[in-house]
Amino acid sequence: MDARESYEKIFSLMREHHNWFDSSIPLIASENVTSWAVREALICDFGHRYAEGWVGERVYAGTKYLDQVEIIAMELAKELFRVKFADVRPISGVVANMSVYAAFTKPGDVMMALPITKGGHISMGPLYGSEGNFIGGTAGAVRGLDVKYIAFDDENLNIDVEKTVKRIEQNKPKLIMLGGSVILFPQPVKEISEAAKTINAVVNYDAAHVAGLIAGGEFQDPLREGADCMTMSTHKTLPGPQHGMVVTNDEEKFELIKKANFPGLLSNHHLNAVAALAVALAEFLAFGREYASQIVRNARAFAEALHDKGFKVPGEKNGFTKSHQVLLDVDELGGGKKAEKLLEDANIIVNRNLLPWDPKRGRSFLDPGGIRMGVAEVTRLGMKEGEMEEIAEFIRKVLIAGDDPVKVSKQVSEFRRNFRHIHYAFETGREAYKYISLLST
Ligand SMILES: *Cc1c(COP(=O)(O)O)cnc(C)c1O
Repeated sequence: MDARESYEKIFSLMREHHNWFDSSIPLIASENVTSWAVREALICDFGHRYAEGWVGERVYAGTKYLDQVEIIAMELAKELFRVKFADVRPISGVVANMSVYAAFTKPGDVMMALPITKGGHISMGPLYGSEGNFIGGTAGAVRGLDVKYIAFDDENLNIDVEKTVKRIEQNKPKLIMLGGSVILFPQPVKEISEAAKTINAVVNYDAAHVAGLIAGGEFQDPLREGADCMTMSTHKTLPGPQHGMVVTNDEEKFELIKKANFPGLLSNHHLNAVAALAVALAEFLAFGREYASQIVRNARAFAEALHDKGFKVPGEKNGFTKSHQVLLDVDELGGGKKAEKLLEDANIIVNRNLLPWDPKRGRSFLDPGGIRMGVAEVTRLGMKEGEMEEIAEFIRKVLIAGDDPVKVSKQVSEFRRNFRHIHYAFETGREAYKYISLLST
């Protein structure tokens, strides 16, 4: 391809992607779709600018409007998360976690987190596993932390408090990371924080997935349950741009976090994303409670429908889920890799995921036994409990009945026709996946 052909090709691929998502069921738990207002902020001139440092202490000129928007973003974040301090500069959830590592640890220190097999995120992982196997997690690989694991109760799909408290006393970590990427139920933040206080460990709750549910009053409230600070991505259940954030009520700790972010981790902090985040936070303040409440109702209805249709849905003992996520154990249906592919062919987008008991049955991340789904994005499209039952039926057709996925994909596209618009925003009725062109109208 010559330059012009490559150039044209990029645009046609982007359009194809938009069309595909416009006729698919997006169930990736870490994703969402933004309003047109957020998308407009993302393409503004802010994305060409620098504003290094903190508002009022910038080291560049030309920032007077950028500064005001960043202040609004911080004020909205504080109101939404009911906190005293917010740093809206981290450019992603991983960078927000790194700022906490830089603020409260030194290389070689012990940090505790959940292993990836039990819901921990790769950013909390060690460099090497217990058998010397390469893991390459950010905490180990980038900050040189010695990562010890929080104990997990596979049956309740939650942290094992008693064992974890013992491990805290033994390992004396400087930092404990709670939260996670697979998170069905509120974690015992209070109990872990009490144990952490006895050894002066800092507790951070990584709310990347559940930030919107926390802000909407539909999940636990980690800072009021004893966590010192909370990091997050701003684009999962919180339907903002891809960005990150740290919030806390502790002024001394906040000063350390600020310094970790600048000059430590950031030069440019993606000011277009800060503007887009401010817009998303304003939308969330107005519509977030209603949105978050529908998300958790949808997740519960989805899990129950899947269970009723014969799927193995982990977490039954505790009501399947209290978040936006639903897990399926598809070990006996050919495994997660196969399920992910079949569903993708049917225009149902999910990701394969390790289940806590996978290592014991010889499954690894390449072909795990589970799939993880989230309902935040379909809820944004206006779907309610009834539609969760319909989606569960599509999944049953593909994975249990063995219907041709291409045939099901046509039914999926038909189903999606009534759910193409953004809800829970000031400007609703906009097409969620419309390709917006600046070059042609
Ligand atoms: C998604 C996720 C992150 C990473 O977020 P990015 O914004 O992609 O950097 C961090 N922690 C947890 C628990 C996550 O699930």
